Amino acid sequence: MQQCFVALGSNLGDPLVQVMKAVEALQHLPDTRLLALSSFYRSVAIGPGVQPDYINGVAELDTGLTPHQLLVQLQQIEQQHKRVRTERWGPRTLDLDILLFGDQLLDEADLTIPHPRMQERNFVLYPLLSLVSEWQFPDGRSLSDLIKKCSDEGLSLVDEYSSPTIFASKNKTSTVDADLNTTSGDAL
Ligand code: ATP
Ligand code: CA
Ligand code: CA
Repeated sequence: MQQCFVALGSNLGDPLVQVMKAVEALQHLPDTRLLALSSFYRSVAIGPGVQPDYINGVAELDTGLTPHQLLVQLQQIEQQHKRVRTERWGPRTLDLDILLFGDQLLDEADLTIPHPRMQERNFVLYPLLSLVSEWQFPDGRSLSDLIKKCSDEGLSLVDEYSSPTIFASKNKTSTVDADLNTTSGDAL
């Protein structure tokens, strides 16, 4: 089993509903447990043109899938959310990116790990920081160093999901089914 982190983002439809449905889908991935969910943020879109704000968060998983198997599963969830790929970085109902996968390094045509643009993105680093107080990247940079250089401009916490939620510990064998309809905290 490998510890991995997946970024969730949405800025079409009802973004908060989209990402929470995606969280439910993550809970049903084969050979995978959802360990924790970060705080969620609203962020100003960086893509082309004027776009609605995003909702962004990070999920921590424990998975027996390979990175490519996980990517396929995440793309299926995106498709179930009727994601349509038009222009690059255009608005989307759901985006699921693999940020980190254990200590693996991958640089392939369809999959790069760590995610190549995560280190500059406040909407990735701030949610990640709510899950892990420190992280050392393969290039030697640490999460705390990156955060110091990364402004939180355009980011605001989503009230209902302002704290991370722990679903299961890494050492347990069974998954705790947390209720997604309540407010933040341990019983999200
Ligand atoms: P960005 O990658 O800058 O966040 P994006 O998420 O909008 O942009 P997509 O259109 O969702 O980009 O994905 C383009 C391709 O990126 C996917 O088809 C996938 O094969 C590839 N990809 C490479 N590395 C990763 C990764 N770590 N997680 C998810 N997809 C990845
Ligand atoms: Ca992305
Ligand atoms: Ca993506």
